[in-house]
Amino acid sequence: MIARADDAATRAQKLHAEAIVVDTHLDAPDQLSTRWADVSSRGATDHFDIPRARQGGLTAPFFSIYVAASYADHGAARRALDLIDLTHRVVDGHAKDMMLAVSPADIRAAKRTGKIAVLMGIEGGHAIEDSLGVLREMYRAGVRYMTLTHTNTNHWADSSGPFYEPDFDPKKSAVHNGLTDFGKTVVKEMNRIGMIVDISHVSDATIRDVLAVSRAPVMASHSSCRALSSMPRNLTDEQIKQIAAKGGVVMINVGSGFLDARLKATYAKDPARLRKEMQELLKHQERPQRAVWTEVVDHIEHVIKVGGEDAVGIGDDFDGIEDPPTGFEDVSMYPKLTEELLRRGHSEAQVKKVLGENFLAFFARVEAVRDKLASEPPATAVYKEK
Ligand SMILES: [Zn+2]
Repeated sequence: MIARADDAATRAQKLHAEAIVVDTHLDAPDQLSTRWADVSSRGATDHFDIPRARQGGLTAPFFSIYVAASYADHGAARRALDLIDLTHRVVDGHAKDMMLAVSPADIRAAKRTGKIAVLMGIEGGHAIEDSLGVLREMYRAGVRYMTLTHTNTNHWADSSGPFYEPDFDPKKSAVHNGLTDFGKTVVKEMNRIGMIVDISHVSDATIRDVLAVSRAPVMASHSSCRALSSMPRNLTDEQIKQIAAKGGVVMINVGSGFLDARLKATYAKDPARLRKEMQELLKHQERPQRAVWTEVVDHIEHVIKVGGEDAVGIGDDFDGIEDPPTGFEDVSMYPKLTEELLRRGHSEAQVKKVLGENFLAFFARVEAVRDKLASEPPATAVYKEK
């Protein structure tokens, strides 16, 4: 028996070392912007640094260009540019370990040369300040996805709202009932230039509209399954099916609240207590209510069951969540997913898909749509204040 267990561990180790590991949401830039640190030293941010990324076999993290809702009325594009600059400085400062990547080919090249491929995704569509020109400039600066909203509804897309508020109802705060006409133009222009459309954080009505108008497959960069943890930030089975049917991917968020709704169930009739317990959960590492790391694999398997084995990947939300599950606390932990997936009987090819190949194939499909639309002229729509 011991020999067999050793075999499994060795098999997992070998597989993980060969695999391309993609994580589509890492909030290190926001942390580094307030607490600058050398990412080659351990503990640079809560959940990320080069030594832990190496330990975890991480090939390609997307650095989040996170523009908080507080910038919505002033300085949103500037905030995005500051974090893009910060990302370039981090990569340039560690050229032996890191390279900036903007394509699936770059990610594969990084793997071959033993580097960490750093990509960028904007979180919060207000970052483009309602300008298609700014959107295109962000792409030219190297950004490859944009989450259409953060917790705030912007001028052209409804958000699913502040997920950390236990009794928040996105339907009640809907402003546009999905995407406005300008929002639909933003999505179509993203398709044309090859910017991945990210539907994490948006409302159900916005997801519906995006799926209807997007000419390319779409991604949820850091969302989990509503069937396993009921919150507006997670995806319904129907949404997972539709995203998968369009060739898109669902990248699993590991925040405890995203993985299970134990707290919500326990304090369903006491919203004040629920709020207090949710805040406590964020403050203390060892809360018993914290999710257990194997629940990450439950969510991965749920997407496979509902949307198929090509539709799932990892978008941890590390450095953006304060409540990672017990046993999966930072970017050094990815090998545990490989072991657990193998242990549950998934094939080596399936495990590689989850770790990165699904995202790479999806990214290539987005590029193919961009190439097909190459002769289409740039959109010239201008946002008009109502
Ligand atoms: Zn987020």
